[in-house]
Amino acid sequence: MANKHVYSYGAGKAEAKGQELTKNVLGGKGVGLMEMTSIGINVPAGFTVTIQTCEEYYKLGRKLPKGLEKEVIDAVKKLEKTAGKKLGDANDPLLISVRSGAARSMPGMLETILNLGLNDKSVEGLAKKTNNPRFAYDSYRRFIQMYSSTAMGLSKQPMEDMLHDMKHKLGIKNDPEIPAEELKKLCDQFKAFYKQHKKEDFPQDPMKQLWGAIMAVFNSWEAEKAQTYRRVEKITDLKGTAVNIVQMVFGNKGENSGTGVCFTRDPNTGENIFYGDYLINAQGEDVVAGIRTPLKLETLNETMPKAYDQLCAVRAILESYYKEMQDLEFTIEDEKLYMLQCRTGKRSPSAAFAIALDHATKPLLSKAQAADLVKKGYLPKKYAEMAVKPVLSKEEAVLRINSDDIERLFYPVIDTKKISVEELKKIKIGAGINAVPGAAAGKVVFTAEEAEKLAHKGEPVILVRKETSPEDVGGMHAAKGILTATGGKTSHAAVVARGWGKCCIVGCEALNINYETKSFVINGKTVKHGDYITLDGSAGEIYLGNLSLKEPELPASYYTILKWADTFRTINVRTNADTPYDAQNAINMGAEGIGLCRTEHMFFDTEERRLAIQEMIVADTLASRKDALAKLLPFQRNDFYGIFKAMNGKPVTIRLIDPPLHEFTPKDHAGVEKLSKITGISPEKIKHRCEQLHESNPMLGHRGCRLCITYPEILDMQITAIIEAAIKCVKEGIKVYPEIMHPLTIDRKELRILEQQTRVVADALIKQAKVKLPYLVGTMIEIPRAALLANELAEVAEFFSFGTNDLTQMTLGLSRDDAGRFLPTYVATEKDGGKGIFRDDPFQSLDQSGVGMLVKMGIERGRSTRKNLKIGICGEHGGEAESVKFCHRAGMNYVSCSPYRVPIARLAAAQAAIADKKGKKK
Ligand code: PEP
Ligand code: MG
Repeated sequence: MANKHVYSYGAGKAEAKGQELTKNVLGGKGVGLMEMTSIGINVPAGFTVTIQTCEEYYKLGRKLPKGLEKEVIDAVKKLEKTAGKKLGDANDPLLISVRSGAARSMPGMLETILNLGLNDKSVEGLAKKTNNPRFAYDSYRRFIQMYSSTAMGLSKQPMEDMLHDMKHKLGIKNDPEIPAEELKKLCDQFKAFYKQHKKEDFPQDPMKQLWGAIMAVFNSWEAEKAQTYRRVEKITDLKGTAVNIVQMVFGNKGENSGTGVCFTRDPNTGENIFYGDYLINAQGEDVVAGIRTPLKLETLNETMPKAYDQLCAVRAILESYYKEMQDLEFTIEDEKLYMLQCRTGKRSPSAAFAIALDHATKPLLSKAQAADLVKKGYLPKKYAEMAVKPVLSKEEAVLRINSDDIERLFYPVIDTKKISVEELKKIKIGAGINAVPGAAAGKVVFTAEEAEKLAHKGEPVILVRKETSPEDVGGMHAAKGILTATGGKTSHAAVVARGWGKCCIVGCEALNINYETKSFVINGKTVKHGDYITLDGSAGEIYLGNLSLKEPELPASYYTILKWADTFRTINVRTNADTPYDAQNAINMGAEGIGLCRTEHMFFDTEERRLAIQEMIVADTLASRKDALAKLLPFQRNDFYGIFKAMNGKPVTIRLIDPPLHEFTPKDHAGVEKLSKITGISPEKIKHRCEQLHESNPMLGHRGCRLCITYPEILDMQITAIIEAAIKCVKEGIKVYPEIMHPLTIDRKELRILEQQTRVVADALIKQAKVKLPYLVGTMIEIPRAALLANELAEVAEFFSFGTNDLTQMTLGLSRDDAGRFLPTYVATEKDGGKGIFRDDPFQSLDQSGVGMLVKMGIERGRSTRKNLKIGICGEHGGEAESVKFCHRAGMNYVSCSPYRVPIARLAAAQAAIADKKGKKK
């Protein structure tokens, strides 16, 4: 229903079904609440105002759309009926919470108001009905506080100060110790403050309160912290937040009540243990705000065993239902459990692998655990049966991982080879709760703003705060690591940092920060702004100094999941490597061959090589050029031999020299002098030659295969080096499979000339050596003309490799070297000061509609001539997940990328193949 703004749920039924029951309509929280209600979990009744309503609100210039009022009033009536209580009732009032909920989780960024419906009369009713005036006035003072700041824009601090002063005056440390009469007085103080600043009484009409709260949630969507969060998380496709209005249940009713946040597994390791924090006699925000240091969830089994069992059952139901680790919020009122939220939980990269593996190989519960919960009446049989088996297939497990998980898995740890355990002990200054693993070293800063400023200058920083609030999100993102004095593993700082895989230590109680002097004291040591510290987020330890970090060891689950991925993918993954070291590294990462060996990199390696190529360039006769090339030959032959050996029979695509010659020429006086001495050519002549080589637009100039067309002797030398190295391998019993690749071709005849010459040189050497050495001759497709005439080029080429770096540059007419100056404006959204022309940087993620069209055309035309034409990609896009999926769909045989991105490509190729199979089944 297009114009329906509100969906109700309660008593086991949810109004939203099918298409409406999606995050884009109801937000993540709304969907979770409705789904939990429908599957029989105890959720307080409520209703959700849709995201589209928020969108309309902004379109109307922050005005509520027509028709909403009636729908909300009807929903309130329905809720009152289900709850058996009325809003504002003087005897037994219904209280509600008003909470945000976007389609994607934005922890702590949007607003919440609790205990709405309380006023001077209903608070009395609540006190009488519950026989608990302390609870009633505590709820009222919380409501006034939240409403005043969130809905009415008053500063939070004055009321916090009043609360603090009251505790101080009474000699009390913790909130629950404040007696009822004092809380009542506090409510009066708060209201007086409100009146003084807003020039009107604190609103007593619950419906007025409700409208204020709904608007506050909508407004929070555009608050600065929420905008910053969306910017750093690159959330550009969301239009607003839903509003969830839910009957209040109370965790602050006494010792048999409480509230908590938990994960159905350990979000750092993925281990199948129940993991979380809770507080007794407290309300929701107390836990996540990190103000009181909470208790560990395991102890709930001792303090409230019945509630703990109910929670264990909910955990099993939800993991079976969603087949995913869940992040839960709950409240216990008089030992009865109510679920307030469930969503897919953010996890560390290694946990992502461990969870996917566990879900595909192990049950959630043992048979005995399941039977016990069934017997106690908390776990329905249907879910007990699901929970004793693995919930995912291997394919589903592979789909669970994303490329960020892989990238973050390689985040550093402290290099214990560089520092001994004893030395480490000496520089350890403290410890806290290990909220997010990995290590980080940087300069201490105390504000988010400063973190952003210094990080922008390229400085590594560690953000140190008493507690982080959602306003700090920009600085948290910019920092290498985060350290806070308060908070638990589920506090906002931890949750947000975990989502980014950013090293984070929280709840470091010994940390005493003085923002004024810009320093902190920890266990007697003073650390000042700008000093280096190192955090070990896995152990929760803090060290003085800038310690060396190294790549971590990868968990076994990573290897298993990637091995599964390899069995599903149908295209190969190769690497771009120019040295035996890179080649070996790539093989360790799972590469199945080299898709691009850029030979010119070999010329830059040592001064000897640089001088030899320079000599070749300044040579003014064919004979002297050949002499110079002869000096280069042994270097190249050796390099190729090393690479072939490392690849041991895996295909190796060698691209012949590509850059314009001016890139090799001496750049300064000393360089010219040196070359003059070696060659005997005068410095003036050398300078003149360099000037001759200068091009106005070298990227479109004398480069690529045009060099070998004009200087065929360069081709001869390179082919000789490749084939001689290969022959040496064959003779030593090492398998070799060279693929010789001509770059930047634009025409069939051009390629034919090069191909024939390649074969003449190669075949003569092979014949002379009397060995069997199969090789291929192919071309890169980097220029639009080559893609358009691919059918002609395929008459000559035995393989194509799409060089999408150049193809992008030439199709878009944007220089890959300079576009960075203005591309950000094309990519950033309007809200972030850009123009939102492209969704992604086309040099990073393939422009599928433009460049992609040429790629598809090139493949189709190429194969129309040569049916089994082998086709790959070797531009940077070969290691970017979405582009790899495109390459699979386009019918390529392989992708090739830098070694460290090989695992990303393996995973993406598998995911594309699985999606393909699923699509075909449908
Ligand atoms: C390309 O153009 O995509 C390519 C791989 O070649 P290079 O980056 O060396 O120009
Ligand atoms: Mg290129």
